[in-house]
Amino acid sequence: MAHNEKPTALIMIFGATGDLANRKLFPSLYNLYAKGQLDKFAVVGVARRSLTNEEFQLRVKESVTEHGEAAANLDEFVSKFYYHSHDVTDSSSYIALGKLAEELDENYRLDGNRIFYLAMAPEFFGTIAEHLKKDKLTNVTGFKRLVIEKPFGHDLESAKVLNKQIRTAFSEDEIYRIDHYLGKEMVQNIEVIRFANAMFEPLWNNRYISNIQVTSSETLGVEERGRYYEKSGALRDMVQNHMLQMVSLLAMEPPIKLTTDEIRSEKVRVFRALRPIIGEEVNDYFVRGQYGQGSMNEKEVPAYRQEEMVDPDSNTETFVAGKLMIDNFRWAGVPFYIRTGKRMKAKSTKIVIQFKDIPMDLYYQREQTVNPNLLVIHIQPEEGITLHLNAKKSGQGTEATPVKLNYANKGIDGLNTPEAYEKLLYDSLRGDATNFTHWDEVALSWSFVDNISAVWENTNEHSFPNYESGSMGPEAADKLLKNDGFFWWPVTEIDVDNC
Ligand code: NAP
Repeated sequence: MAHNEKPTALIMIFGATGDLANRKLFPSLYNLYAKGQLDKFAVVGVARRSLTNEEFQLRVKESVTEHGEAAANLDEFVSKFYYHSHDVTDSSSYIALGKLAEELDENYRLDGNRIFYLAMAPEFFGTIAEHLKKDKLTNVTGFKRLVIEKPFGHDLESAKVLNKQIRTAFSEDEIYRIDHYLGKEMVQNIEVIRFANAMFEPLWNNRYISNIQVTSSETLGVEERGRYYEKSGALRDMVQNHMLQMVSLLAMEPPIKLTTDEIRSEKVRVFRALRPIIGEEVNDYFVRGQYGQGSMNEKEVPAYRQEEMVDPDSNTETFVAGKLMIDNFRWAGVPFYIRTGKRMKAKSTKIVIQFKDIPMDLYYQREQTVNPNLLVIHIQPEEGITLHLNAKKSGQGTEATPVKLNYANKGIDGLNTPEAYEKLLYDSLRGDATNFTHWDEVALSWSFVDNISAVWENTNEHSFPNYESGSMGPEAADKLLKNDGFFWWPVTEIDVDNC
């Protein structure tokens, strides 16, 4: 479907009374509607609690008002929302749901197109998919697509089971696995920066790049997600999906065309080239951390082990730093360092591409230091690109001084960039799966991560908690780079706003 075409579909949201639907999905759908990007559509919300259509519409209205920018057409928008009270484990209720779907399809002339958005816990995905098929909700005359949230399994084995279940009702090209990082403006921009600029692609290899650093730090702690997080940890929650996805976009070969299949197959090749880290090597390549007490914004905050629903002796990591090696011709010898954690000093997602030093530093002879060139991609909260160069200090002499060329997305557009969910919802409605993860990517990234969790789960980390809340993680994470002669570029000092 072309970019200006307006999709038509019945959107069925399972888990329509939950946090994700409320904070992200309703406001995103409304934004698409307000921009005129949705044509004919209706929404069926599904959850257990009993609500009338009117009560549900009121919730949607409140969600848009609270989390989005509501305008006059909000009543018209919510009039297309219907509610079906239904326990997804109860087989008897799918028939009634199917009837409602058919009625809406006819009344709104939706061409038999259906999106099934599962905004609920993954343990229900298999049951729902099986019922949708058995009770013929997937027997449609138009398209049918399944949109699902992370986590996609807990490890490779469970991901395989889940995949098998959903594949009973949907083919791979009908499955849209959301990784909301892939909906972020600047993550999508990695591709454009690399493949639309003559000045980067020729340098994008081991001859000119010394190392790449990907940081995604949060200031928040585990909040009320203790129960989920205890079983997940930062490795499964962040590395298996978001961090490895960013690495694959940075490392992939230029695709022969910018189509979904070509891009995905290049990303898969990166995962295939990722050096497996097994057994004792894990300690050389990866560092885990867990936050202790500390002070954030001058307020004392508790240690992870003191949080609600967390085991007081928990071995779960809230921080991971790692060194990834991509064993192919382009990247041989170039470390990709990743780090992610909770309760860190700053909320920041950034990529720093550090170029190699020039072959002969003439300024060194004059006892001056010349900084390496950096390309910094600011993903969030600020969005933009900064290029760190050296130029002449103005005035007498030829002394070099660092300069930063800066492109700040918000500063230029003066607008908030669209929420990742809005873009991803629109893509799923248009049938563009480029920014969703293919099963092959999921499987390969789990097998990489499983090797690390196998070691960590079998050895208690006696140094936990090993970083203070409000710091940038454990010292061992700094050592990881120091051993290679590098250091983490401080995320706050290279902020686009500070340039
Ligand atoms: P949530 O707030 O706990 O919502 C769960 C929803 O599922 C509720 O609407 C609940 O409504 C419904 N539900 C639970 N059991 C049901 C059953 N047996 N039959 C029918 N409906 C049932 O969860 P959430 O935060 O929205 O997260 C949903 C999914 O998105 C999870 O997989 C999560 O990991 C993922 N996710 C969420 C976020 C986020 O920002 N929240 C971000 C990334 C990924 P009733 O109680 O009325 O049944």
